[in-house]
Amino acid sequence: TRILLTGGSGFIAAHVLEELLKHGHSVVTTVRNPNKAERIREAHPDVPKERLDFAIVPDIAIGGAFDQAVVSDPPFEAVIHTASPFHFKVTDVKAQLLDPAIIGTTGLLQSVRKNAPSVKRVVITSSFAAILNGPKGNWPEKTYSEEDWNPITLEEALQNPSNGYRASKTFAEKAAWNFIERAKPNFDLVVINPPLVLGPIVHYLNSLDALNTSNERVRNCIQGQWKDEIPDTGVFAWVDVRDLADIHVKAVELPEAGGKRFFATAGFYSNKEIADIVRNHFPEYKNLPGPDIKGGDYPTEGLYKVDNSRVKSVLGTKFTSLEDSIVDLVKSLQTVGA
Ligand code: NDP
Repeated sequence: TRILLTGGSGFIAAHVLEELLKHGHSVVTTVRNPNKAERIREAHPDVPKERLDFAIVPDIAIGGAFDQAVVSDPPFEAVIHTASPFHFKVTDVKAQLLDPAIIGTTGLLQSVRKNAPSVKRVVITSSFAAILNGPKGNWPEKTYSEEDWNPITLEEALQNPSNGYRASKTFAEKAAWNFIERAKPNFDLVVINPPLVLGPIVHYLNSLDALNTSNERVRNCIQGQWKDEIPDTGVFAWVDVRDLADIHVKAVELPEAGGKRFFATAGFYSNKEIADIVRNHFPEYKNLPGPDIKGGDYPTEGLYKVDNSRVKSVLGTKFTSLEDSIVDLVKSLQTVGA
């Protein structure tokens, strides 16, 4: 199948690209500039241009940004949309988080409807952030599933970057489902909602400072920042990036995925467990927290549950262990100097 993958330079997209190529698909991926295309090309020296090509989309927040990228010969049959800002280094929540997420998503859907009539399916990487009810905290009596929506408002979104990111994912996903309902396009929609994504990096990274947001905590641990106290875990649900890539590819391939959200989580992790895994496998790091260092544990009052039965039953997902995910991540960070 000929597939358009947005945001090819990203942590998750790099794994999705590998998995698509392994499954025999031919891929055009969007990147912001030719330099980023070159780095991806270098990572796949044996893949011919017919199976891996690039389209330059400098800023997804601009209306019509994808008008040209969705046009291809042979034409696309599916689109996977991963590009969206995921970081908290913002001074303007609307311009830097909400607009690229929302306009990026609706703009892409409009471009597909207008210029790519052969597309039968669009898969969007949303987030657990679009499910989780932040103010409810650890909410021990709750089980989160695809039924749940983050109730965050625009006013709350503008309060700080963390709210801004969660709202960007919530509003973008809502806009996508609304588009399908209103515009009744030729294609159907599949949405993937992963929580914290961990695992090895395969994308081009020129320094550990440029590491993607979700892997930062593991870098911080091996760099000694957790030596005296392990920070609070935050959101305790996670998934391995390779499992998530497989979920994206199945979401393109399986007809029965159409029209559904998939809460893509392996289950729970804590920062304390991450520290224990790193200490057991990488004794060469001298500034790790000892086994009795405080912090980073599960909340004593209990925690919400997560229901991942849909992704297992419809897409057949098997989950990687936290131990394998962290060990492979640290090994990959060592190749960039960790
Ligand atoms: P990365 O930061 O590695 O990737 C984000 C991608 O989006 C990059 O390719 C980036 O391009 C691109 N992008 C961001 N803003 C723009 C813009 N304005 N114009 C063009 N391209 C843009 O993060 P991840 O791989 O982790 O995230 C991928 C997707 O997965 C996102 O939608 C994110 O919300 C979602 N997600 C991630 C989770 C995680 O824990 N990692 C959890 C849940 C969801 P560039 O590198 O050039 O800036």
